[in-house]
Amino acid sequence: MHGFQHLYIPGPTNVPDPVRQAMNIPMEDMRAPDFSDFVTRLLDDLKSVYRLKSGRVFVFPTSGTGAWEAAITNTLNAGDTVLMSRFGQFSLLWADMADRLGLNVELCEVEWGKGVPVEDYAAKLQADKDHRIRAVFCTHNETATGVTSDIAAVRRALDEAGHPALLFVDGVSSIASIEFEMEDWGVDLAVSGSQKGFMLPAGLGLLGVSDKAIEASRSATMPRCYFSFADMIAFNDTGYFPYTPATQVLRGLRVSVDMMLDAGMESVWARHARLAQGVRRAVEAWQGCSLVAAAPEWYSDTVSAIYTPDGVDARDVISTAYYKYQTSLGSGLNKLAGRVFRIGHLGSLNPVMLCAGISAAEMALRDAGAAIEPGSGVAAAQEHFRSTTPDTALAP
Ligand code: PLP
Repeated sequence: MHGFQHLYIPGPTNVPDPVRQAMNIPMEDMRAPDFSDFVTRLLDDLKSVYRLKSGRVFVFPTSGTGAWEAAITNTLNAGDTVLMSRFGQFSLLWADMADRLGLNVELCEVEWGKGVPVEDYAAKLQADKDHRIRAVFCTHNETATGVTSDIAAVRRALDEAGHPALLFVDGVSSIASIEFEMEDWGVDLAVSGSQKGFMLPAGLGLLGVSDKAIEASRSATMPRCYFSFADMIAFNDTGYFPYTPATQVLRGLRVSVDMMLDAGMESVWARHARLAQGVRRAVEAWQGCSLVAAAPEWYSDTVSAIYTPDGVDARDVISTAYYKYQTSLGSGLNKLAGRVFRIGHLGSLNPVMLCAGISAAEMALRDAGAAIEPGSGVAAAQEHFRSTTPDTALAP
């Protein structure tokens, strides 16, 4: 094979060269006297990515799923009532985990294509005068459907109800890519993973925690060991970890955090918004295709889930793209299998790379039987990119 296999899945994403080079180093001593300065500065700078002034960011050697579990087991008790909603494979899996860990899950079922049902949440919080609900869970960006929810609105619903529940947010495919304001939105636990907006290999679960969540962890009784906040705090306070850290990935994280903070988080978000809009223009141009996201208020700037035209099996589109055009597209998950393919547009990407991905999707769609105009999606995306101002500040 010549060239390389192109990646348009919503994580893992492309690792920029400076990040990759920073990881290509000899093994190092994770108890060296100067390792602590590196760790202390890194954890501090991560708070700027999360937009957190108080609280902490923990970095666990795990993936997003492990960080989900860390958030729950450190702050809640078996039998606690939690408010959750399910509208795609990842919100579904988090609810399943909460149930398996022994929480009493009050579940709002939402049509796939929409997101967190803020009005339902508000009504339930208003009605919960005894504050039985201990935590409210939101999947900020549902990667399976390309749907982004309004976390600030959930915070307002909590405040208007005068409700003390902890606010848990899954930001695995939003943090470091689309606007996320952990402090201003009063988020207590914010989950992410290294392989998406952070532009790294999989292997780190990142977790932003508020002071309120740390306080809750001191009295919560759910068993936890490897993911213990208390153990992590004791070691992080001295600049080390309670177990062998993934030092090379941390070195890469240092560079990706620098890239983002040097550009400014607003610039990172703007770049993703511009790229996403290019993909949406292409989808509009493809006859018979449509987004799973039900309306613009739900559109995701990191991933687009796309219904194929009637009679076109999305699995054919994905396998043709992979084998014939060396391009990985995301698959339709769970009940969307066969009906949907996804284009991930997060991480280290630029308009020309994205035009290549759109081009591959377009060829594969036609190969799979879609009657779309050749070049129509690429042309629509090109015109969008031509007419919007490039954000040169974040050239990777
Ligand atoms: N939450 C969301 C929104 C995700 O997209 C994913 C993975 O794609 C996860 C959780 C699970 O993360 P991981 O696969 O890193 O365990």
